[in-house]
Amino acid sequence: MDSPAFAYFCMEFAVHPEIPTYTGGLGILAGDTIRAAADMGLPAVGITLLHRKGYFRQYLDFHGNQTESEYNWSPEHLMEKLELRVKIDVEGRPVHLRVWRYSIKGITGHSVPVYFLDTCLQENSPYDRELTDYLYGGDPRYRLCQEMVLGFGGIGALRALGYMDIHAYHMNEGHSAMVTLALMEEQAWGRGLLSLNQDDIVSVSKRCVFTTHTPMPAGHDEFGLDLVRSILGNDRTDFLIKTKVCSNGFLNMTNLALNYSRYVNGVSMRHEEVARKILNNHHIDAVTNGVHAVTWTSRPFCQLYDSFIPQWRRDNLYLKHAIRIPLEDIRRAHSEAKLELLQEVGRRTAIRLDPEILTIGFARRATGYKRPTLLFHNIERLKAIAERGQRIQLIYGGKAHPRDDGGKSLIRQIFEASRTLKESITVVYIEEYDINLAKYLISGVDLWLNTPQKPLEASGTSGMKAALNGIPTFSILDGWWIEGHIEGVTGWSIGDGWESLSNLESESASLYDKLEKVILPMYYDRPEEYASVMRSAISCNGSYFNAQRMVTQYLQNAYLRNLNNL
Ligand SMILES: *Cc1c(COP(=O)(O)O)cnc(C)c1O
Repeated sequence: MDSPAFAYFCMEFAVHPEIPTYTGGLGILAGDTIRAAADMGLPAVGITLLHRKGYFRQYLDFHGNQTESEYNWSPEHLMEKLELRVKIDVEGRPVHLRVWRYSIKGITGHSVPVYFLDTCLQENSPYDRELTDYLYGGDPRYRLCQEMVLGFGGIGALRALGYMDIHAYHMNEGHSAMVTLALMEEQAWGRGLLSLNQDDIVSVSKRCVFTTHTPMPAGHDEFGLDLVRSILGNDRTDFLIKTKVCSNGFLNMTNLALNYSRYVNGVSMRHEEVARKILNNHHIDAVTNGVHAVTWTSRPFCQLYDSFIPQWRRDNLYLKHAIRIPLEDIRRAHSEAKLELLQEVGRRTAIRLDPEILTIGFARRATGYKRPTLLFHNIERLKAIAERGQRIQLIYGGKAHPRDDGGKSLIRQIFEASRTLKESITVVYIEEYDINLAKYLISGVDLWLNTPQKPLEASGTSGMKAALNGIPTFSILDGWWIEGHIEGVTGWSIGDGWESLSNLESESASLYDKLEKVILPMYYDRPEEYASVMRSAISCNGSYFNAQRMVTQYLQNAYLRNLNNL
């Protein structure tokens, strides 16, 4: 077997619309990375947990109150069950794992496996059987045990599968940081972690790559040392203390990964800068995220690209040539995608939206810093804009984490705004935002809105998906948009510049001004011009913000780079 260029670890992984093992951006990034690697014919593997109960299914009542239920899905129908078993040590007892394989096939037929670890086995105690059930559920003990399964179980599974020589172990976010400790134990060969010397540690670090996504100083992924000692045992805990990974009585997973990785990156140029500040000037590079182009391009646009630039599937850079597609073809493909979205909205909500009206989309995790209600900050102003004749309609989507009361309240506020605006603007909130719904939204609306609080949007990827479908972004200058934004060419900015912190009043004023004076007049009075913005969004941003470019950058800057002389 080819020795993999990289093994990609992530707590969540979106590999298939019917497999609910992801919550959002992070898992989609993992899936898109592996899809791109498969297209590029790279030897690689992905590792995650099985999450038999998934994240959760979302229900919203008339007032926008969210309730949740478990998923019940059967890996038997969707994955291949492997016979091998792995045993790891958690809280001083053995925990047994089984491995499931889902293979992602690329455009040339090369396939890349993603391995899903599963503790639901007779040999395990009832507690351990559920360890791989809930994604981001449970208490700190449960979470830390899960992270042990991902790190130690993941390395154990790779060896049992015969992957001995792996160029780079890529930890996507701190949840997989236990990988470093598992590799240290291998390095120690039964001599005990405390016997490792500096050369041993460097030899492990040379194989570790870490991507951070956290733009806030207090990462929630940290555990008190008492808990760490009871779950990891004395040897591992003493090693972490001795090597100064723990501080103030806590093990912070970002810290762990940071300490033992020879290459660390943030997920956009701006995020690199912000992360460096929070992470005590640790050396951090930037690899801006990208999305898997073929996955996120709607059928009408796939057909269009196939006929004008057939090389685009093999090499996404050719999307640059979209600039030669006639505007009327762009408009026709978009109208088709828009109709498909509106039909889907009708099927799901019985609300009929008007295909002639400028349709704005906003869908992402419902949580404070994403500020989904910024558009309603001055609701009278918004109403006045819509009542002046150039109409708009809005489609929302997004789940709040079950314990994020602030996020849940934001959903209720959108429902409330929807009732207030009833006579002038139709606002639809669609339940259960997932890959299926995202595909309709990011290809069918006319404008993709994003209003994060600066500088907390590490990257954001849904606007990249929209760009592949010729949909301009209208966003606060943060995350990827700082790099993708050309005013009036690929979309429009909200607020002034990216350096300053967010200011609610000035940002909402800027949003209304631009919507009223720039975007609506162009959309309704100069549709050719609007279509040319759509086309430039594809050519400038579709050609760059894709997972193929991203994986190439990881190869060049992290996986295959000779870091001996760093
Ligand atoms: C793309 C995507 C996300 C991430 O979008 P952001 O813009 O990064 O917030 C989240 N959820 C789903 C279902 C997606 O498809």
